[in-house]
Amino acid sequence: MSEMHLLSTEQLITGLQDKQFSSLELTEHYIKRIESLDNQVNSFITTIFDSARAQASAADAMRAQGDKRPLLGVPMAHKDIFCTQGVLTTCGSKMLHNFISPYDATIVSNIREAGMINLGKLNMDEFAMGSDNSSSYYGKVQNPWNLERVPGGSSGGSAAAVAAGFVPMATASDTGGSIRQPASFCGLTGIKPTYGRVSRFGMIAYASSLDQAGTMGRSAQDCAYLLQPMVSHDERDATSVKHDIPDYVQDIKDAEAAAGDKPLDGLRIGVAKDYFTEGLNKEVEQTVRAALKQYEALGATIVEVNITNPDITLATYYMLAPAEASSNLSRFDGVRFGYRCEEPKDLTDLYTRSRSEGFGPEVQRRILTGTYALSAGYFDAYYTKAQKVRRMIVEDFDKAFTHCDVIASPTAPTTAYKLSDNLDPAAMYLGDVYTIGVNLAGLPALSQPVGLTSDGLPVGLQLIGQYWQESKLLSTAHLFQQHTDHHLQNSLIAKQNV
Ligand code: GLN
Repeated sequence: MSEMHLLSTEQLITGLQDKQFSSLELTEHYIKRIESLDNQVNSFITTIFDSARAQASAADAMRAQGDKRPLLGVPMAHKDIFCTQGVLTTCGSKMLHNFISPYDATIVSNIREAGMINLGKLNMDEFAMGSDNSSSYYGKVQNPWNLERVPGGSSGGSAAAVAAGFVPMATASDTGGSIRQPASFCGLTGIKPTYGRVSRFGMIAYASSLDQAGTMGRSAQDCAYLLQPMVSHDERDATSVKHDIPDYVQDIKDAEAAAGDKPLDGLRIGVAKDYFTEGLNKEVEQTVRAALKQYEALGATIVEVNITNPDITLATYYMLAPAEASSNLSRFDGVRFGYRCEEPKDLTDLYTRSRSEGFGPEVQRRILTGTYALSAGYFDAYYTKAQKVRRMIVEDFDKAFTHCDVIASPTAPTTAYKLSDNLDPAAMYLGDVYTIGVNLAGLPALSQPVGLTSDGLPVGLQLIGQYWQESKLLSTAHLFQQHTDHHLQNSLIAKQNV
């Protein structure tokens, strides 16, 4: 039982059903791992072990009485961007160091209603701004594959916790790649659904037209299990779309049952030349190209497509996302909740010092650039222009999808890197080149592990789908995972038993 954390969600469900272990035993197993090993990783900001134990015992009692909810008693944890009633919700910021949320995000209550056990709140870049978790007020997170490397960001805590075997699955959010890039750096599968698929109610806003919640797990099937309860139509989020809700887990099983010896026969994978250019690390490129060959061996065909050059996409994102952030973050003013400076002289001093002391440098940088882009005189030149380019990006994706079913690319140009004291923020932004176009267009996309580089670090392949085709993405990745074992490789920390 010392290796329970290496089981898939499907195996955990079977184990609970067949009484191989109870939910309480499973929960204690994860708690013990977190207590013994998270001092090396720093993936949790808050743990709620007593409430997790109580929930697990209750789940065991319900199961004994015939409750058949599949996820009943299965542990997980939430990125600290999701409001959890009665539990500290910091969004990685000093600004919210004392914020106990008075309500639950819709996804938090949905997941609880599915019977899952929440072990706590996961570390992240401050207000989800960043790509390596270095901007968290609660300390940086270490990559469980190599403790000197970053886990990616902004959902670095979610990725590190799953990769370390502290939880089987975690929630995360993705505004420009924050699910896919850390999944790639930590050897996991992670999916960002179509914009509007998952409710944003209670998910602290970064850039509202781009933000979307999703899941991370060791496999596409694990992601599907957690995504299922998250998806719902929610009247409390005006951008939540009423759309048929598929059964993701069943769709994967159906795809598996229908598969012949060429399981991906007929699948057209679009590949864009522009996504394999200069900044792409050679070993990452080779690993991604080898994975595309494996896809072809499984029956897929590769077609060349044109999508907007990622440099243009990058500039558009880094104009629009900070603009929206500057507006969203104006609510943190030291008055109603969160950090307030000591002894303010007057109201202006209260606002100025609370915000200067409560926000870290990266968040302040975004607020300043965003405010600049929105100010009179620059609005048309920057913000309006970026909105026009955004429309072009959407149209380019639409055209590309007339030639293919999914689009594949590297998830990130590099593997997990070491933090240097003087990392230029612009260099960090460049790492988002392949992921942000998806958010600007509102499309669904996932990252899946496709191998390790010579220094033992995971590489991710991104698959982008048509609107609402999460099932197609998950089934495609699942069929690939059925015939390969990249997703079964374990990190240094996951290999340690306690
Ligand atoms: N790294 C990107 C940024 O810093 C994306 C972050 C995210 O998806 N939340 O904005």
